[in-house]
Amino acid sequence: MPIRVLASEVASQIAAGEVIERPASVVKELLENALDAGASEVAVEIRGGGSRLIRVIDNGAGIPLGEVELAFQRHATSKIASAEDLSHITTLGFRGEALPSIAAVAKVTLLTRPADEELGLSLLVQGGRVVKKERRGSPVGTIVTVENLFYNTPARRKFLKAEATEAGHSSDLVTRYAMAYPAVRFTLLNEGRTAFRSPGSGSLYEVLVAAYGLELAKQLLEIREQGEGEVRISGYMGGPSTHRSNARGITLLVNGRWVRDPLLSHALREAYHTLLPSGRYPLAVLRIDLPPEEVDVNVHPAKAEVRFRSSGLIFEAIQRAARRTLSESAPIPVVTRPAVPSTGPRMGRWIPAAPRPEPGAAPRPQRELPAQAIAAEPAGEVGPKVPPLRVLGQLGLTYVIAEGPHGMYLIDQHAAHERVLYERLLGERAVRGINSQSLLEPIPIELTPAEATTLEENPQALAAWGFDLEPFGGRQYLLRSMPAILGRVDPARALREILDDAAREGPGVAGSGWEARFVIGLACHSAVRAGEALSESEMRELIRQLESTRSPRTCAHGRPTMIHLSQEQLEREFGRR
Ligand code: ADP
Ligand code: MG
Repeated sequence: MPIRVLASEVASQIAAGEVIERPASVVKELLENALDAGASEVAVEIRGGGSRLIRVIDNGAGIPLGEVELAFQRHATSKIASAEDLSHITTLGFRGEALPSIAAVAKVTLLTRPADEELGLSLLVQGGRVVKKERRGSPVGTIVTVENLFYNTPARRKFLKAEATEAGHSSDLVTRYAMAYPAVRFTLLNEGRTAFRSPGSGSLYEVLVAAYGLELAKQLLEIREQGEGEVRISGYMGGPSTHRSNARGITLLVNGRWVRDPLLSHALREAYHTLLPSGRYPLAVLRIDLPPEEVDVNVHPAKAEVRFRSSGLIFEAIQRAARRTLSESAPIPVVTRPAVPSTGPRMGRWIPAAPRPEPGAAPRPQRELPAQAIAAEPAGEVGPKVPPLRVLGQLGLTYVIAEGPHGMYLIDQHAAHERVLYERLLGERAVRGINSQSLLEPIPIELTPAEATTLEENPQALAAWGFDLEPFGGRQYLLRSMPAILGRVDPARALREILDDAAREGPGVAGSGWEARFVIGLACHSAVRAGEALSESEMRELIRQLESTRSPRTCAHGRPTMIHLSQEQLEREFGRR
């Protein structure tokens, strides 16, 4: 086919396709126009899932009668005037594409009356052309009726789902906009029946009652507005027991615009961390308000996505707000004294490595440790959990200072990390084996006679924990791979120290087997040390990981990972009570 310019009708159908994908897209554009016109009441009516009819009635400002026809031209808008205006959009619409797009794929009747007109003006537009125009009596505001959607684009029509599904999308939209604009009264009529109604009282909570029912709404926690810099987070979030199987229960409202943003949804979900069963999603309505210059809304034809100038900040603001809300409202066990384990560390479950062969006896094959036997402790045996904590800073390059629901926590960074890595090692060993990393070049190690003996006694055990050591004559060995968890630690040195530690029966691990001590040593050597500066995000990550361990309150050696100074203690110390 030769190249040719498409007929304007085809071109506008193509353009319309970007904005109007399904009936709900029409509902969205018309709702946005009504809200931009300052309506306090918006009624939506749909029939046939929206394909047959969509009508949106608002009591907003109306369109000046002389501009009504213009409103149907592409890129005709009253909302912006220059490219510069794009950088601080305060209206929902600004592209001037909705009305012409809808009119390209449906029959549209628009009736509008501004307050200063006696009569309204009605315009019938079909196939993009005005076919009828007349003055008529009308309430102040605008009524847009869209019929026979996609009548001239059979391809689109074919892709529509069942009427109930399409109606569901529209209903979803009306509900979310009601959440975004609690002061506006919304009604949705589906096939003549009221499907949703919001009171328009200005209370988001009342909208949530209308949307989810009182029972569910009662379980929501209010996110009290938190202004950090210019980003403000507010709204409601479900407590840990309110969850869904997908992310659709998360409504993100950026400056009153409902947007999809997987990253921000993720921020919210992460804030729950271990509080939510895995694979489940929270229910939440998050209002994110920030200066319009900080958001680029001009990235998606249907304006369903936005881009933030500093998304990291917003990510953090959401996490902070959500965590604070959870920790303030969720029922969390109160621990008022530093957690010192009353009994020794839980090492009793360890199966000791095979006993030393008698001198002179034929060496028996070493017993491989059954993976199950050394799996982390079952859920029933865990110590008290850690409440959600907010990191405040680092003390003496050794302790993380954090705030929890009932006071202050000082966390020993090394002990905490050791606990995290210890449980990770046990988990890896139990599930798919230790993550091991080959060295680019084998490292020669000469062991002391004691170390060499230990090694000879536990060859498989060492390999099972990720160390590949090859005898190289005498007490010489070649280290070919190491457990990945060691990170950048000098593996040869770490191995010797771990072997050394494991050979001695330390106070915390008395009675447990050599291999148990070996793993603890491995966790210990892989963990961050006291004296290491940690960034804020490293500290947050450490706390997050600690929260998810089974026994977060002690390190692998059984020493406490944290000290808690309760609110009461603080008040007593300061003579406040
Ligand atoms: P946009 O909303 O991006 O400006 P539209 O095609 O949706 O583009 O609408 C074009 C113009 O028509 C709007 O800028 C607005 O001036 C006017 N308009 C559309 N719908 C309404 C309404 N319900 N009330 C008042 N004015 C409206
Ligand atoms: Mg619009």
